[in-house]
Amino acid sequence: MFKSILSVLVFLFPIVLDAQENAFNSNFSDNTLNILCYHSGRKAMEYYSIEETYITKGYSGTKTKLLDNTNLGAHRIEVYSLSNSLIYSRNYCSLFEEWQTTPEAENTCGNFEEVIRIPLPKEDVNIKFFSRDGLGKWFEVESKRIEVSKSYFKEPKHKLYAPYRLSVSSDEVSKKLDIVIVPAGYTQKDSLKMISDLRLFTNFLFSKPPFSDAKNKINVWGQCYFSEQCGIHGLDSTIQGNSFLGVSYNTFGSKRYVMTSNLFNLHEILVNVPYDQIVIMCNSEVYGGGGIFNFYATSYVNKDNGFVLIHEFGHSFAGLGDEYSHNDIEVEGAKQEIEPWQKNVTSLKDFSLKWEYLLEKDTPVPTPLTKEYANKVGVFEGAAYVSKGLYRPFQDCLMRSDKPFCPVCTIEIMTCPEKR
Ligand SMILES: [Zn+2]
Repeated sequence: MFKSILSVLVFLFPIVLDAQENAFNSNFSDNTLNILCYHSGRKAMEYYSIEETYITKGYSGTKTKLLDNTNLGAHRIEVYSLSNSLIYSRNYCSLFEEWQTTPEAENTCGNFEEVIRIPLPKEDVNIKFFSRDGLGKWFEVESKRIEVSKSYFKEPKHKLYAPYRLSVSSDEVSKKLDIVIVPAGYTQKDSLKMISDLRLFTNFLFSKPPFSDAKNKINVWGQCYFSEQCGIHGLDSTIQGNSFLGVSYNTFGSKRYVMTSNLFNLHEILVNVPYDQIVIMCNSEVYGGGGIFNFYATSYVNKDNGFVLIHEFGHSFAGLGDEYSHNDIEVEGAKQEIEPWQKNVTSLKDFSLKWEYLLEKDTPVPTPLTKEYANKVGVFEGAAYVSKGLYRPFQDCLMRSDKPFCPVCTIEIMTCPEKR
């Protein structure tokens, strides 16, 4: 009996996949539509305006998981056909959302570039933009019509070289996770160092489980891009800012937070690369980095250690939260009143959505920081920068310090692409 059920399942599985591929083929063609928007507003107020749309050759995203069911992130886009069917969705986070939490956003308007990349629809579509409210619920920010027929293939301002194939297991890019490493702060004189650092970063990406076990599911590309000036702006005043890529330390006044708001330029130099995730490799030995979910990650170069790179990639690829706290911050804020969306942080408001199923029966909640629970999944107080009211699943984890990923983060990384 079991065998016959299995044979039916084996028989049905390709049909299900075929149906999904058919859904892709009936609504999309095998190219990418890049939607360049400004995400603007201030605290508790936001809107989108579309600046430009253009097409790039090929589509590297999955063709079988067109709808994002992860419920991760602070924003969500939904694409509807003219007959009002939901044909594509993706969740993400943004610099705009982080800026909204700064004191400046109380009274001033900010204007942030974002690039949304979707498979090229065969006809005009409507795109809906959603964000989360103070209770973590989605609300619709805007709805816009995209006139696909008016889009064109992009000619970049820069001469682009063919990307380096750092670890490419297959050219069937829609079946792989495609990561592109973008060098920032390397001039043509630094080209040998750039190639050597690209190899170093590739090795780092595969240096820790579960990434080390998934080499055959991942392609790593390196863009060959030279900056105007050597090094990264922000800490060293002798290096001027305003470079094309705009990568800088000191984002929002946080010294080690390395980011860029030049998203249009960043994506423009990638028009000849298949990519699902961007890693910006910063030509600097000064500690720093950053990672925003489905946006990009950055890291400085430390030839002995890839911890910052993988930690930031945990944010940008899987939407993992930080598992550390600052002991001096005990915020009684909204964060603790709702269940955060990050899968490795809980406020215990709705723990059944998190890792409750991984707890052993006799593990107390919250779990004491004792030797007895040193290598067990528990509910340990202190996460997402605060020491009270938010909990992490393991005493230590790569999202907290230079240790292996905990079981909860490992599961999240491994299942993240499958849920899309
Ligand atoms: Zn973890």
